Amino acid sequence: YRGKDRRGCVVAYDEQMLVDDRHARFLARELRAAIYLDELDVHYQPIFVAGKDRPVAYEALVRWNHPLRGTISPAAFVPVAEQSTLIDDLGRWVLARVCRDLPSLDAIRVSVNVSAVQLRSPDFARRVLDLLAHHGTDPSRIAFEVTESVLLDGEASAQAAFETLRRAGARICLDDFGAGFAGLGYLRRLRFDVIKLDRTLVAGAASGGPDQAFVAALLAMARAIDTDVLAEGIETEEQLALMRAAGCRFFQGYLLGRPAPLSHWAPLTIVADDVAAA
Ligand code: C2E
Ligand code: MG
Ligand code: MG
Ligand code: MG
Repeated sequence: YRGKDRRGCVVAYDEQMLVDDRHARFLARELRAAIYLDELDVHYQPIFVAGKDRPVAYEALVRWNHPLRGTISPAAFVPVAEQSTLIDDLGRWVLARVCRDLPSLDAIRVSVNVSAVQLRSPDFARRVLDLLAHHGTDPSRIAFEVTESVLLDGEASAQAAFETLRRAGARICLDDFGAGFAGLGYLRRLRFDVIKLDRTLVAGAASGGPDQAFVAALLAMARAIDTDVLAEGIETEEQLALMRAAGCRFFQGYLLGRPAPLSHWAPLTIVADDVAAA
């Protein structure tokens, strides 16, 4: 069996790929329906800054509550959405929900994940700013998280989109830093407001060894280029203490707060909304 991939290159499939491909297409159809049936939800995970005990921000993490299969992880369905324009619909849905939820969240901003595929459309930034304007959301209350894959294909278009968004007041974060191949070249060419250290790096540093020296060097470099650093995946007091001692200022992880629905973070506002709607 031979097919064509997204770029139109001919590729040979083996049987497992056929099964995976069929599964992906099935999942994509279900996901398309799920967006309109409101089976998706957004959970918020708090982000803390050293010295304050209330969250400064939240990260929006999409959830799929499948009626039969239960909660499906974004790690399973975001890659499927990325294979079609579905990722644009998903991205718009999440951002619209964030705009709606933002007034109830007592924090400076909400961080939203953006896929490399979304950034490939030349009008991505324009459409995002239109959506924010439509909801009356100040762009300075939104941060966009991208991974290095954004930079692997289409660095120029990503750079243009970042500039437009940043000029409007939004922040750009480099997500999962240290998990893949992101090198210093990216940090030289593209400006990021925040570097998010991947949880594998945080865990590695806390258990000593070479990761500890690597994290220390990264923090020194980030200070030199005036970029904030956030440690992801803080699960233990030891990891928190170590990252603080190393000079990291922002923290996120299960120890500090798990992703939870809006009602968990803003119970009173939900009651007020219900009363208003009644
Ligand atoms: P991410 O952006 O790096 O998000 C952090 C992931 O780590 C989340 O997984 C979060 O629940 C998890 N996490 C947070 N603290 C801890 C911790 O202390 N320990 C451990 N082991 N994990 C922790 P989640 O929610 O399953 O999301 C997985 C990935 O899916 C995200 O990674 C992000 O790349 C993607 N994703 C989530 N929501 C969206 C979205 O709305 N749009 C797009 N394009 N991608 C999304
Ligand atoms: Mg993220
Ligand atoms: Mg991350
Ligand atoms: Mg990740």
